[in-house]
Amino acid sequence: MIKKALTLFLTSGILMSFTTVPDSDKFEKKANRIHEKCLTVDTHCDTPMLMIKPGFSVRDENKAPHSRVDLPRMKKGGLDAMFFAVFTSQKPRTEENYQKTYALANQMLDSIHAMLKKDSDLATLALKAEDLAKIEKTGKRAIYIGMENGFPLAKDISRVEEFYKRGVRYITLCHSFHNDICDSSSDGKPAEHNGVSDFGKQVIAEMNRLGMMVDVSHASDKSFFDAIELSKAPIIASHSSVRAIAQHNRNMTDEMIKKLAAKGGVIQICLLDEYVKNPDTTTVNYKRIKQIRKIYANDLDKMTEAQKDAMFKEWDELKAWKQKDMPSVKDLCDHIDHVKNLVGVDYVGIGSDFDGGGGLMDCGDVSQFPNITKELLRRGYTETEIRKIWGGNLLRVFREVEKTAEKIKTNPHLASL
Ligand SMILES: [Zn+2]
Repeated sequence: MIKKALTLFLTSGILMSFTTVPDSDKFEKKANRIHEKCLTVDTHCDTPMLMIKPGFSVRDENKAPHSRVDLPRMKKGGLDAMFFAVFTSQKPRTEENYQKTYALANQMLDSIHAMLKKDSDLATLALKAEDLAKIEKTGKRAIYIGMENGFPLAKDISRVEEFYKRGVRYITLCHSFHNDICDSSSDGKPAEHNGVSDFGKQVIAEMNRLGMMVDVSHASDKSFFDAIELSKAPIIASHSSVRAIAQHNRNMTDEMIKKLAAKGGVIQICLLDEYVKNPDTTTVNYKRIKQIRKIYANDLDKMTEAQKDAMFKEWDELKAWKQKDMPSVKDLCDHIDHVKNLVGVDYVGIGSDFDGGGGLMDCGDVSQFPNITKELLRRGYTETEIRKIWGGNLLRVFREVEKTAEKIKTNPHLASL
């Protein structure tokens, strides 16, 4: 009996050592293999705001201080494509601010194009949905360009085409305050246009004509419902999460997600902590974080380099404090599960908002993206589903947007229908 028990113990011990370790190894390998095979796209980072800083370079992690995105880390994280967003904060709509913002947007575009020239051995500009697969084969990173906030258009409709020609492939209609295009989700003041304005209608029509994706992240709920009715092509939310899980105005309600999916669009789940998990809003540090985020979003261009460095230093300290209860990839995947259960896996993707506030406990920069794939696999997502989430869905929408533009070109009367 004793002998039998001992044999059983030894055998099960041996069995365990043969099964558990190799299983986790096998899982790691499988997850990494799937991640490598996916065409991966992140639809939103604000890195261009840092790229205009002297000495900053996405070529080298050491020359990208405070950044969560650079080319070596993209490669390490198996990230094939990133939408670099030309972000400008919303300011009072004076003639001077229109001019300054237009100049700033162009400065960021100049920086992106200069980087693509300088680092052409590592990255290539992508302009069409199909470019990604071609660029991925070369082993380089594909860089798409988006524009966050239509403020630089300054009520001049010809600038939509001007920015398109400079490579911009989506415009986030507004940012944290109402603008000439539409009402924002976080302005705090009553609606100005009750959704999308007359100028906004022209902007959406022009984007449809050119083949640019309409991005409704930051837009008010009413602006979203207007935009989706107005657009002749599916639309995107480049970096928004699920409001049923995290009750933030920036997130999308189930009703919005259903509408988005019914029109073939996609919600790119954002990694910004408050959009992922409801925070404890009572602490002093939380309040300071809120203040700094506001300064970062609205006043960065007014600050001296020394002020910026001091702010970033404080931010790093606050981040260390926050790290202990930061949301994790598991929390993020709850949002993906929610969209999948609500409308299906074809309408969800990833838009990190890195360098604009995005970052989770176990996904703090682009190099940690494989953690998302691992969690999805753990939850039973198939390889096909994971491929859709990592880029397949977004590329489908992008192709539809391009097709709509082609149709409008051959039948111009469609634009007015
Ligand atoms: Zn944003």
